[in-house]
Amino acid sequence: MSDVHHDQARIVIIGGGAVGTGVALQLAEAGFTDILLLEREASLCAVTSPQAAGLVGQVRSSLERTKLAMWSVATFARLEREGEVKPSWRQTGSLRLAQTQERVAEFRRMMAVAEEAGLEVELLDAPAAARMWPHLDFEAAKAILWCPSDGYLQPADLVAAYQHEARKRGVRFRTSSGVAAIRLKDGRVAGVTTRDGMEIACEMVINAAGAHGYHVGRLVGLDLPVIPVRHHYVITTPTDWIRPDMPVLRMPDGTLYARADVNALLIGGWEPEAMSLDPRSYTLNDRLPPIAEDWPVLANFMEEFRPFGGPLCDQPVRHVFTGWPTFTPDGRFIIGESSQVPGFVCAAGCNAHGVSGSAGIGRHVVEALTEANPSPYVKSLSPDRFTQAPWDFDEARRRAQHVLETYYHIGH
Ligand SMILES: Cc1cc2nc3c(=O)[nH]c(=O)nc-3n(C[C@H](O)[C@H](O)[C@H](O)COP(=O)(O)OP(=O)(O)OC[C@H]3O[C@@H](n4cnc5c(N)ncnc54)[C@H](O)[C@@H]3O)c2cc1C
Repeated sequence: MSDVHHDQARIVIIGGGAVGTGVALQLAEAGFTDILLLEREASLCAVTSPQAAGLVGQVRSSLERTKLAMWSVATFARLEREGEVKPSWRQTGSLRLAQTQERVAEFRRMMAVAEEAGLEVELLDAPAAARMWPHLDFEAAKAILWCPSDGYLQPADLVAAYQHEARKRGVRFRTSSGVAAIRLKDGRVAGVTTRDGMEIACEMVINAAGAHGYHVGRLVGLDLPVIPVRHHYVITTPTDWIRPDMPVLRMPDGTLYARADVNALLIGGWEPEAMSLDPRSYTLNDRLPPIAEDWPVLANFMEEFRPFGGPLCDQPVRHVFTGWPTFTPDGRFIIGESSQVPGFVCAAGCNAHGVSGSAGIGRHVVEALTEANPSPYVKSLSPDRFTQAPWDFDEARRRAQHVLETYYHIGH
């Protein structure tokens, strides 16, 4: 049934960023094809996802996060190889640089986790790294960890690829269609109402609304600590030597990441004093506040890069990318169905992993919905951990900021 004012689908996904579209594809591949994705902007990938640097790193300090990232990489590589619409996935490999002995010890622990997960990593010496990134000085590195299957992609292309593949399996997409209300019947989800008054009957709603994840939770009476925290990076003017197939760089002691952007340098980082939004300070209907270019913080990213980048750190900046990715107080995703509101499912609070993690997040949503006994890790991501006990907004913001501030700290 579909007319101007009524429609129905088994599952309605709210939000057409990397997470919503990634979840749509994973669900469709698992056999859930009666899905309608609603995006309130005029196009998909219109808010936070297009701002992302597109870095995809698999080397993590926990086995679960490593496996999630490996699932994402396998999906990106498959879409790039077989898809008619490609995510522009470049498997460049990555170099992670240690500047302290504590960091070297952390690399060894990460290598043990990688080995357990079946992820290939190895330590390289400075000349080997310099062959991959000529003109950089790797002598300041006390250890260099190489992961050959890492890389980066273009988020807008990834979303287009997800949409194309999901559509082939029957998933429908509607843009300029903001959800204004969620209807409950006998305490469980029964449908949604859009801003323009369309009634859509459904059994399940998936909250993939990014920085409006808190507001969508409120539509069913739940308080979810989905806290937007500012993030930003710069792209320099082109050089005559950077090439797009050079490996992604991570310099955790300088809290920096970098990659080639065609012939330019993309460089961003995790600032020591983060800035967040109280989600109650804007409404479901509001757009997110604009972010002014913060030159002292951005210039510091370039300075922190100087031990390796030398004169490259004086390359002029051509463009600044900014946005409000969401963080949670415990730094973990919010994934799965609420036991208080059956049929209300979360794919939110991505802690700046929403693009790279999107396929793995989708996989976890499938596991949460289909497995009688999901893994302890997937269970631990349940929204119930926040909705069954009260939490404080100021404290949640402080902790969410802390997650960003300590992103590259040892053991994060
Ligand atoms: C500068 C920067 C760099 C980043 N770099 C990386 C990176 O290298 N790798 C990485 O993995 N991540 C990165 N991130 C984080 C990443 O961008 C986010 O984690 C990711 O985009 C979140 O995806 P999303 O789909 O949840 O959110 P969004 O892309 O914001 O999508 C949510 C969608 O929901 C829609 N919506 C909201 N309310 C409604 C409603 N009521 N009805 C219908 N639709 C609604 C919105 O319009 C929006 O399109 C970066 C972020 C920034 C800002």
